[in-house]
Amino acid sequence: ESITELLDRLSEVVPDYPSAGISFKDLTPVFADAVGLRRITDAVIEPFSGQFDVIAGLEARGFVMAAAAAYASGTGMVTVRKAGKLPRPVHSMDYTLEYGTATLELHRDDVAPGTRVLILDDVLATGGTVGSAVKLFEMAGAQVVGIGVVLELSALGGRGSLGANKVHSLQLV
Ligand code: IMP
Repeated sequence: ESITELLDRLSEVVPDYPSAGISFKDLTPVFADAVGLRRITDAVIEPFSGQFDVIAGLEARGFVMAAAAAYASGTGMVTVRKAGKLPRPVHSMDYTLEYGTATLELHRDDVAPGTRVLILDDVLATGGTVGSAVKLFEMAGAQVVGIGVVLELSALGGRGSLGANKVHSLQLV
């Protein structure tokens, strides 16, 4: 079974969630499947093998992938969280959502300057979320070596918004 076949078999599409007109791609059944979790984890990090020192996950579904990927590759895992969740001094970056803005945060001392970071999330849409995370690691003096996602909603142009960063997605939708 190819990754595309696996994702087609296990993922769900929820119409009009979280609001009318949005077609929400739900990967939680892939995470819940033993083969699914292992296959997407291995596939998302494969092109970056040997190129990163730590894996960052974006709250919340990115945590699932990043923790599994960090364990599989023998690295640590860094949490990039929504505003107000991290207890110690942070770097903060605002970004634009479809309606309004949001903020992501990174503990200032969770990555040392020069650390090579692979960023993982479940879905790349406009790129606002991942772009904000890239800026946080730049503020920390770390080096983002790549971005891995399961699904890329290509019509929303996220890849283009991320400039020269190397983006690896498992499926375009
Ligand atoms: P962006 O900032 O527009 O690229 O949106 C990406 C963020 O929103 C990621 O953290 C995703 O988890 C979430 N997201 C956007 N669309 C979907 C979707 O269809 N399914 C699951 N998550 C989504």
